[in-house]
Amino acid sequence: MQLNRIDLRRLILSLATVSVILTLVNALYATYKVQKNLLIDGTLHANEAYATKLARSTAMHLNLVMSELNWSSQAIAQAPQNPSLSQLETERLLRQSDSFNAVVRVNANGQLQAVAAPESFKADVILKDAPIQEALTQQQTRISSPFRLNQGQYFILVSQPIIDEAGHYDGFIGGLINLHDRSILHRLLSDQSYQDETYLYVVDAKHRLIVHPDKTRIGEKVLDNPAIETVLDGQTGHQKIINSQGINMLAGYSPVGISGWGVVSQRPLQATLATLDKQMLSVLWHSLPILLVTGLIIWLFAGRISKPLWHLAQQAEHPETPETESEVKLIKTWYYEADELKTALLKGFGSVHQHIHALKTESLTDPLTRILNRRGLQQQLETWQLENIPFSVISLDIDLFKAVNDAHGHDVGDQVIQAVTEQMRECSRNQDVLSRTGGEEFLMLLPYTPLEYAVQVAERLRKTMSEAPLKTVGTITISLGVAHWPETAEDMKKVLKQADVALYQAKQTGRNKVCVATDSACQEAMRKWEDILN
Ligand code: GH3
Ligand code: MG
Ligand code: MG
Repeated sequence: MQLNRIDLRRLILSLATVSVILTLVNALYATYKVQKNLLIDGTLHANEAYATKLARSTAMHLNLVMSELNWSSQAIAQAPQNPSLSQLETERLLRQSDSFNAVVRVNANGQLQAVAAPESFKADVILKDAPIQEALTQQQTRISSPFRLNQGQYFILVSQPIIDEAGHYDGFIGGLINLHDRSILHRLLSDQSYQDETYLYVVDAKHRLIVHPDKTRIGEKVLDNPAIETVLDGQTGHQKIINSQGINMLAGYSPVGISGWGVVSQRPLQATLATLDKQMLSVLWHSLPILLVTGLIIWLFAGRISKPLWHLAQQAEHPETPETESEVKLIKTWYYEADELKTALLKGFGSVHQHIHALKTESLTDPLTRILNRRGLQQQLETWQLENIPFSVISLDIDLFKAVNDAHGHDVGDQVIQAVTEQMRECSRNQDVLSRTGGEEFLMLLPYTPLEYAVQVAERLRKTMSEAPLKTVGTITISLGVAHWPETAEDMKKVLKQADVALYQAKQTGRNKVCVATDSACQEAMRKWEDILN
């Protein structure tokens, strides 16, 4: 067997494993891509919706704030020089809702005519830090950029001009709104829950942050942020951006038209995709049972498919062994290819065994007489010795055969050899073994045959030959020697020699006769021969 070659079972298993893994990876990858796009898309749209809602609420609130201021400005316009009216209006505006953290009435000269504010708000600080001059210069409804009061918190100033009955500008009434604290606007925009890492910020028309969860950034000017650029352009929408900290963000935005602000809601891409890993793990877990079942089925089938071929291959390695054929017959070939291979293999074995049998028979048979040759005889003797089968031996030689050859030619000589073989066959039983051991010399083995009976057989054969003349050559006689194993000797080689010696004795004493190993002359000759050997 070539051990370095991979077998079919492993091949099928490897192929199936690779396909299953590829399919799984492909499915996971496709799911990942689809889920990722869904998550990103969903987050972008959610942020846009959220920003839009907040922008609308802010616009509504600012409208309300401005109409409150407008109402007061009209009330003051009735008597612009009346400080108590201004004081009354500012106090009323401050107290009627949480819209403002402070309300001021500034005259056209920039002087504070009335202030309604908690004690912490110093009038001179307001005058110094609030964008009073801008409001006076523009003389119209205005929402200021964020500014800090006394280096502290950020505010915006929403101002409404006061136009007296004669149509003269007489300063404004303005509300300060704290962007850090204690105002409806602050609560509206800042009290958002920042779960999922989503957060919201608001920029004013000058790109300055007016609401941001990181309070330290309020007032900061943000440039090069595509979401801010777009929203300040007046567009509602969403996009992927990289924020000023270099983080990928999914932003949705919507403008607050009335104030020129932009509301942006955004969530880090990474936070959005964090759930994806869990989802993929969950997909993997859910596909695991089917995967295991598939693996098991593949494993079982790989075994079932490869088994018959493996067994066939194993048997094909030993075509010469006799058991191979029956082993192959036992192999269960349940599918077409294996079955065809089995049939072909069996046919092949059949012809191999036929050939081997023919060759064996050929190698053990004498071609002229079709009886055993010396090798065949040897094999037979070995078998009987192993099985301890007693037998008689008749050694036989044609008398004066040389003369036959000389007188009639070699072919006629061959015919005589065949005729003698024929007679041997006639005088023997089925179980007797005939063999041609030399030119015109033969051995007959008679199993389970006592010496006396073998002598009778030899005598009958001799007699038949001598009494039945052959065509062309006339009467042919034979000489025979008989011995028995283990009666005349226990050593098988010795028994054969005894038969030979007896035959020699028959020749010596006139031919056409049977001599037996137990004859005294034969025993004497045997002794002499053994002496020579020793
Ligand atoms: P003996 O009675 O002493 O046996 O005399 P013999 O002439 O038979 O003497 P020997 O056994 O020495 O002679 C055997 C002869 O058989 C010699 C050879 O020419 C002949 N012979 C051997 N093999 C064959 C064969 O296959 N065919 C033929 N036609 N002759 C053979
Ligand atoms: Mg001879
Ligand atoms: Mg002879």
